[in-house]
Amino acid sequence: AEAAADTWTLALVDETDSTNTQLTIRASAGAPHGLVLAAERQSAGRGRLGRRWQARLGSGLTFSLLWRFERGIAGLPGLSLAVGVALVRALTALGVPVALKWPNDLLIDGAKLAGILIELSGDALGPATVVIGIGLNVADPGPIDQPVANLAAAGHPLGRNQLLAAVLNALHDVLTTFNREGFAAFREEWTAHAAFVGEPVRVSFSHGQPVEGIARGVDDNGALLVETPEGLRTFHVGEVSLRRR
Ligand code: ATP
Repeated sequence: AEAAADTWTLALVDETDSTNTQLTIRASAGAPHGLVLAAERQSAGRGRLGRRWQARLGSGLTFSLLWRFERGIAGLPGLSLAVGVALVRALTALGVPVALKWPNDLLIDGAKLAGILIELSGDALGPATVVIGIGLNVADPGPIDQPVANLAAAGHPLGRNQLLAAVLNALHDVLTTFNREGFAAFREEWTAHAAFVGEPVRVSFSHGQPVEGIARGVDDNGALLVETPEGLRTFHVGEVSLRRR
């Protein structure tokens, strides 16, 4: 049965390399379901595909949490999108309007406010152990190689403690439902908050030619649907990046 996480265990550190890295190590050493590690600063914060997450001291809410599912790894497609729904719920309740960019970004006015990094561990057959990392700009993170947003500049001066509490509460609901029903339970809500739906987009891969088309939302696994001249195509989370054209 799923371990109860009606209470979180919260660890706060001044500095670490990456909260995802540290929680992954603790997970393999048997750390409990519901453990949260928040860092004031990461010296080697990570994004997807080996990219870096950067934030100057005090500018970010940066944390990871450990969640043990009853589902195996094969039952987790769409999890990063569901985590995005939890962030949307928490921020909307605090008066911050945000949009979701497939697969795992939060935007304010088209600029990146937050990123989500999900890493799976545990053997392929048993229940999955998941480390969910979230970086959210509360204030100016410093120079970044793409347009970024932060809550203070957007007129929402929220404290990190209040934000963390709101996000953890929303995550508890979302992850509990996801464990039972998978991403299908969130498909409609995700799509309702999605950026780029109905708009021209370009899908790029680490290898091969990009694909252009019109974004048509996501399927029950959280895969991106793009209408191309050759027909409707499906793209899975993985080595794929999405841009508006
Ligand atoms: P992209 O956001 O470019 O589509 P991605 O979803 O794979 O790619 P992430 O894994 O979320 O990216 O995060 C890594 C990227 O996020 C970096 O390459 C950088 O462009 C951007 N980034 C790094 N630090 C921040 C920050 N504090 N705020 C917003 N964006 C950041």
